Amino acid sequence: MWRKVCDGAFAGVRVDRSTNNWECRIGRNVEQSWTPPLGTVLALCGPMLWPSTAVERVRPSRFTPPFCPWPECVGHRGPRPRFHRYGSYERPSDAARIPRYRCLKCKRTCSRQTFSTTYYLKRRELPAPIAAGLVACSAHRQLSRSLSCSKTTVTRAAERLSRHAILLHCRMMKHVGPLTEPVVHDHFEGFIHRQDQALGIGTAVGARSWFVFDLDPALHRGAGRRPDRTTTAKLEFKQESAYARSIGRTFTRLALLAPQDGLIRFIADGRKAYRFAQSRHPEGKRFTLEIYKNPKRGPKGSPRTPEAVARDAAMFPVDSLHQLIRHTCADHKRETIAFGRRLESIVGRSFLMAVWKNLIKGRSERKPDRRTPAMLLGLCDKRWKWEEALRQRLFLSRESVPASWQKLYGRAWTKDAPRHNARHAQ
Ligand SMILES: [Zn+2]
Repeated sequence: MWRKVCDGAFAGVRVDRSTNNWECRIGRNVEQSWTPPLGTVLALCGPMLWPSTAVERVRPSRFTPPFCPWPECVGHRGPRPRFHRYGSYERPSDAARIPRYRCLKCKRTCSRQTFSTTYYLKRRELPAPIAAGLVACSAHRQLSRSLSCSKTTVTRAAERLSRHAILLHCRMMKHVGPLTEPVVHDHFEGFIHRQDQALGIGTAVGARSWFVFDLDPALHRGAGRRPDRTTTAKLEFKQESAYARSIGRTFTRLALLAPQDGLIRFIADGRKAYRFAQSRHPEGKRFTLEIYKNPKRGPKGSPRTPEAVARDAAMFPVDSLHQLIRHTCADHKRETIAFGRRLESIVGRSFLMAVWKNLIKGRSERKPDRRTPAMLLGLCDKRWKWEEALRQRLFLSRESVPASWQKLYGRAWTKDAPRHNARHAQ
């Protein structure tokens, strides 16, 4: 079945019933190359609708609320209700006049700021530079010094940006698909607060587009030569179970992207949890595992074995992402005080990183390939800037957010968190 996906480009997806393999066509060409040529659209997805102007820049006479912000109102998710102007108020921080509106369905009121990412903020110029700094290896205190604000302002802004990144990622996932490329998966290893609390972040990356499709935490007890990490069979099983649960959640979300009965090529390393998760998952049969075990490597400088070369080539998209996270996120630097203090903050920052990687950063800086992974998937036609990603506020109740990501959004993943680490409204 062929469909027009953008100007002059026809694309289609065919499932070979004998092998259950996928084929993606662009015009007459079958997409097989690992480096897609210019103009290639790798998936049948429509462009993501996004405002061309930031909400707070729209003139009051031109602005009408796109929906009712109250979750209980029928106009929140249903057809757009009518609104009346309901006066305005003067914002104390800059004396600007902000228009107010009244929903004719529920009779509640809202303002233009309700739909902006800068709602409630006094320093509305901060979110974009803070987001840029967080993916440029700055820690909160360094950012507060550069931007002349309090470090707690940066911490709160980082949490707000993480929540926005989760919702923006969900919005993108709604428009992605069907999945026409193999997915490469591995866990990025980091720590929570101290090096004895290990955290794996499962990352699923498109093998051709390098689009980050999925992120999921796996809390485990750590590995290595530390004396408190001596492994017994029982502990190893517990460890692999944590990874398997994380992989299972990723399987659930990825299965929604593939067409019904279509198989997904899933490239991973030799961790036992992959086979375990596949055997337990209800949709496990739809995943074709391609396992590349991590080969034993010789001393530094020694030539790589053919197995190591094959593994590195197959796992390159995810290895490259992990190098980027280690290089550009202060919370994953070793032996510093910049460690993330909570699982939700660390994974939230990873979502911010995913938004940057998918929408803002060019695919490759060495080649150079300035197209972003989202452009390759046909989600947008140009590289975004942080200001564009923050043009409108997204609402949890209006996005399709998987249950596990809702727990990250509400900071409810950690069960016995200290009271001062407040949860966020669901
Ligand atoms: Zn309403």
